[in-house]
Amino acid sequence: MKDACRISAEALRVAGEAVRPGISTYEIDETVRRYIEKQGASPSFLGYGGFPASACISVNNVVIHGIPKKTTILRDGDIVSVDVGAYYKGFHGDNAFTFPCGSVSESAKRLLYATRESLYEGIKQAQVLNRIGDIGSAVQEYVEARSYSVVRNYVGHGVGTKLHEDPSVPNYGTRGRGVKLLPGMTIAIEPMVNEGTHYTRVLGDSWTVVTADGKLSAHFEHTVAVTHDGPKILTVCD
Ligand code: MG
Repeated sequence: MKDACRISAEALRVAGEAVRPGISTYEIDETVRRYIEKQGASPSFLGYGGFPASACISVNNVVIHGIPKKTTILRDGDIVSVDVGAYYKGFHGDNAFTFPCGSVSESAKRLLYATRESLYEGIKQAQVLNRIGDIGSAVQEYVEARSYSVVRNYVGHGVGTKLHEDPSVPNYGTRGRGVKLLPGMTIAIEPMVNEGTHYTRVLGDSWTVVTADGKLSAHFEHTVAVTHDGPKILTVCD
């Protein structure tokens, strides 16, 4: 699982290095796919539920599940969420990061910073005998204190031999509620944070999730193991 997660993290780093004005999201996806395959792994998302690419690449008001395209060309000032997983020797890793493309606005920078920090607030709660609601409430409180909103329609999840497993890991909730966390559980914590309303809609391609009000959205994710020594982030590069 550690190996699958390391490959996932490295694939995400490779994607981030490719982000620049003028590149298409298709080219980034190809770079990611080639990297994962070179490691002897396979892209977890390719073909998952019929998804046509190796990474979800979601630009600006796209929350998640953006389909990489030759016609989606990144521009200076975009924010670019890349979500990617790798399957290796029977296990999946899953992670996401929102990259600034070129120079982005101060408000976009604040959104990226807050979303990333909210992920770490959630991870801190991934302690043995805590509950899923401790994670969600920590993320939600951090985000809403900064006047952003957390997406409700999509949530984090268990991850292991399957990409999506129980339990669901919402980015909202009530402290002390929900499934109890036990040593050895591996979960993907993935706040999706909107500048405006938390409401989303799905475009006609039945994949692309956008903010209902057209404002920006950011997404950060790590695969985390619950251990007696505390939360251990598995999606880290060597
Ligand atoms: Mg995930």
